[in-house]
Amino acid sequence: MNIFEMDNTYVANTYGRFPIEIVSGKGAMVVDSNGKEYVDMGSGIAVNTFGIADDEWVKAVTEQLNTLQHMSNLYYTRPCAQLAKLLCEKTGMKKVFFGNSGAEANECAIKVARKYAMQTKGSDYYTILTLKNSFHGRTLTTLAATGQDVFHSQFLPLTEGFVYAEANNIDDVKSKVAEHKIAAIMFETVQGEGGVLPLDEQFVKEMKQIADENDILLIVDEVQTGNGRTGKLYGYMHYGITPDLFTTAKGLGGGLPIGACVMSEKVQNVLQSSDHGSTFGGNPVACAGAINVISRLTDEFLAEVQAKSDMVFERLSKADGVISVSGKGLMIGIETKKDASAVITECRENGVLVIKAKNKVRLLPPLSITWEQLRYAVDVIVAACAD
Ligand SMILES: *Cc1c(COP(=O)(O)O)cnc(C)c1O
Repeated sequence: MNIFEMDNTYVANTYGRFPIEIVSGKGAMVVDSNGKEYVDMGSGIAVNTFGIADDEWVKAVTEQLNTLQHMSNLYYTRPCAQLAKLLCEKTGMKKVFFGNSGAEANECAIKVARKYAMQTKGSDYYTILTLKNSFHGRTLTTLAATGQDVFHSQFLPLTEGFVYAEANNIDDVKSKVAEHKIAAIMFETVQGEGGVLPLDEQFVKEMKQIADENDILLIVDEVQTGNGRTGKLYGYMHYGITPDLFTTAKGLGGGLPIGACVMSEKVQNVLQSSDHGSTFGGNPVACAGAINVISRLTDEFLAEVQAKSDMVFERLSKADGVISVSGKGLMIGIETKKDASAVITECRENGVLVIKAKNKVRLLPPLSITWEQLRYAVDVIVAACAD
């Protein structure tokens, strides 16, 4: 059996995989089992913030691995505390709960919102308002939060208490808030899986105002948009608002599983001893990776992410066969005249790995991709988009 047959036989059928096996890499380059090299414009879906086997990151992680790989949350460990401090200092937030994934981070935020609303308004205020076309995860509760029926229909009943408003339609948000007993409003600043669609600034500001006026918590899902991906440390920082909670995962660990629910002063003490937990949460190795990632996302580094983004937008938006380009920073969606899957295949054959979001070609390169690698990738993408 070759690896494709073995995987297809023994691994659950939940993923449609591209027909290559990735064996290794360095930075933004990956190598398949035939020795062919590619520029990786997906970075494990916005996970490998500094690409593959980045020297500094590997050093930080392996030093921790050789010291203490795991300890239960019954004891104090240094990386967990240091990462929480770093996240709070960089964002002005007050406390962090660590889990292992985006879905788990969102579950925590939902629990905080429900407990807060129960304490402040009563136990019938449990409904969370999310946006249509959003994506918040695959657990039964975060699926319920996800405003896309296609993900729901085969897994009913989902967790109750979610309603959906149309993105960028403030009147719809207002009417849902009037109609339901809302505990929190939760959204992505750029809908990633939904097609790399940034929310309008005015809409986000008005949601913040409605939330404040009604003592509704504002939760920003920064699982994909976080950790420098959009050219700022967190996506909400583009919008001049501060959420009551934000969640993040994907790029936080730079390639290790970690998720975080980050809480403002208002909700910092909502969760108390034994209200929530996670065996692997705050794992020292994952936290050591995340400390390395977050401490390297300086203003100077983020300005370079933005400059790279500007170059990609500039080149792609006037390219043949490109209908539109959307997104922020190095989270970019391309609407193409050709079928996106055909463009993706052509790019792969020419040494560039790009992925899909809805009907768009999606780019999520490592933030540390070199200008030369990025220019090469854009050349290949531009050529693939042309009729
Ligand atoms: C990927 C993603 C999630 C789910 O994260 P997992 O780590 O796969 O659980 C949640 N929200 C957003 C916005 C995402 O992009």
